[in-house]
Amino acid sequence: MTKGNINVSVENIFPLIKKFLYSDHEIFLRELISNATDATLKLKHLTSIGEAKVEYGNPKLEVKIDKEQKTLRIIDQGIGMTGEEVEKYINQVAFSGAEEFLEKYKDSAKDSGIIGHFGLGFYSAFMVAEKVEILTKSYKDAPAVRWICDGSPEFTLEETTDKTDRGTEIILHIAEDSVEFLEEAKISELLLKYNKFMPVPIKFGTKTHTLPLPEDAPEGTVAETEEVDNIINNPTPAWTIAPSDLTNEDYMKFYHELYPMQFEEPLFHIHLNVDYPFNLTGVLFFPKLSNNLNIDKDKIQLYQNQVFVTDEVKGIVPDFLMLLRGVIDSPDIPLNVSRSYLQADGAVKKISSYITKKVADKMASLINENREDYEQKWNDIKIVIEYGVITEEKFAEKADKFTLYPTTDGKYFLWNELVDKITPTQTDKDNKLVVLYATNADEQHSYIQSARDKGYEVLLLDSPIISHVIQKLETTKENISFVRVDADHINNLIKKDEPVISKLNDTEKESLKKNVEEAIQDTKFTVQLEDLDSTDAPFTITQPEFMRRMKEMQATGGGGMFGMGGFPEMYNLVVNSNSELSNQILKTENTEEKESLIKYALDLAKLSQNLLKGKDLTDFIQRSYKQLEK
Ligand code: ADP
Repeated sequence: MTKGNINVSVENIFPLIKKFLYSDHEIFLRELISNATDATLKLKHLTSIGEAKVEYGNPKLEVKIDKEQKTLRIIDQGIGMTGEEVEKYINQVAFSGAEEFLEKYKDSAKDSGIIGHFGLGFYSAFMVAEKVEILTKSYKDAPAVRWICDGSPEFTLEETTDKTDRGTEIILHIAEDSVEFLEEAKISELLLKYNKFMPVPIKFGTKTHTLPLPEDAPEGTVAETEEVDNIINNPTPAWTIAPSDLTNEDYMKFYHELYPMQFEEPLFHIHLNVDYPFNLTGVLFFPKLSNNLNIDKDKIQLYQNQVFVTDEVKGIVPDFLMLLRGVIDSPDIPLNVSRSYLQADGAVKKISSYITKKVADKMASLINENREDYEQKWNDIKIVIEYGVITEEKFAEKADKFTLYPTTDGKYFLWNELVDKITPTQTDKDNKLVVLYATNADEQHSYIQSARDKGYEVLLLDSPIISHVIQKLETTKENISFVRVDADHINNLIKKDEPVISKLNDTEKESLKKNVEEAIQDTKFTVQLEDLDSTDAPFTITQPEFMRRMKEMQATGGGGMFGMGGFPEMYNLVVNSNSELSNQILKTENTEEKESLIKYALDLAKLSQNLLKGKDLTDFIQRSYKQLEK
């Protein structure tokens, strides 16, 4: 038997390990299972190239709890280690690795984020164990050995006949303060969190499997059961399989495996696969989002060689894609670094722009493959695309190929199609193309109607971030402007070179304006006289585009120049001076009657803009009934 001291240069590493990332103690299990997996895959490789002359078979890992002995064991059937190798890999390599890791990160460990997810390796066992044993037998013809270390720099290493089969067994004697790791439920939870998709089957206990009844079984026969291995992982998840070998059902099955609590099917998936200039695989899913901007708890998960790392993917995945779900697996994402470093990392930036490009390409191919289907899904995916357009330049550049502009009457245009369609009718006298839109087909109904009466197309743009998108389009496209249908009278929204006919002279107009202003006494409204068709509504309330849009942009983040909450409510009251009602107002001598006419008309205008509420609405209704009774 060998007794020895691990070569310690930091005065004592074990208390440090114990303290390290207090909240993250649980990662020891992932580290040990990763080692066991590596040892198994190494053997697979060696047998495949003929280096190891042993049968690879169907190896699995096993995790076992013994509550009485207070041990947790991780057993593999991998390459194992000879005594010399233990000396070398455990006492030297692993130790100096852990030591180096701690040296480097012990100060920054607090703002960890991703730090601590990887790197500590075998010695992380001491976060939860007071004593660790390694029982291992190499695939080479060498005696098995037992290594024991109690958390001091001293260890013992001796040959043993206790292990006859190939592989390694790590025995953790769980410390008093870590007994939670002797609970089946806890270990089960950890295995599912970190190891659900690891490449070697992991057994944790057994489960009862009910056998199917034979077809001719008489009624009331109790089905037989058998005890089978409880394998907690799926060693070949969808992202590790070539897309050509997967059906849509396979992807859906994988989605539910990934998010057991999600019952709704995703709309479609994107399979990611690059090996140059970095390695990355994964599958992203588009969930049904509609106008929901709240990212729920089922987030994109980041894996490194099928080991779960984190679902905090900010900085790796572009913000707009955090609305998606799925998996990204890359050995090239540096994990032992802080978040701010990660964001500046070149490889990560490339990954982020690759994913962006891939999503854009997928969108373009989806719309080409099946336009109708894409149109039907548009409402559920538009948020992601719009968010991408306003935040990722590279995405915005491609977006014309797959961004749809729905109209209030159920048509869908791509940008170029829209421009072609409306150029003949919606170009104003200054040669500017005016795109009309509504954000709510019901509330803005009368305005939409008057635009349609003129043969104009009205888009239905109802997403919560649409004002940002519009702002972006206006700055990137030439000579176009967007206006909501209720931003002004339709004649003013798209100004044409048409002669105006005024029924009233200037003095009459002036007194009409004064009459209206005096009667309504409300600073929210600016009275604006217009010579419209006599059949146009006498009074119309409009909300100037600029103010309204700034206000909306501020409410959804950014774009404000008036400071928080600095936007007053402002409306224009468009009075049609050519209407019969205007004529009547002017002619009415009795001030009370005049006022009542004006107020009634204002109430009607408010009604059609959904602005008549509360007491004003009650009064209006009572007044209307009286009118009927007259
Ligand atoms: P890393 O896995 O990053 O190399 P570790 O500290 O986890 O660092 O392990 C150090 C070394 O110990 C491994 O590289 C491997 O050679 C050896 N080792 C650890 N666990 C096992 C195991 N279960 N079977 C065989 N060798 C192992």
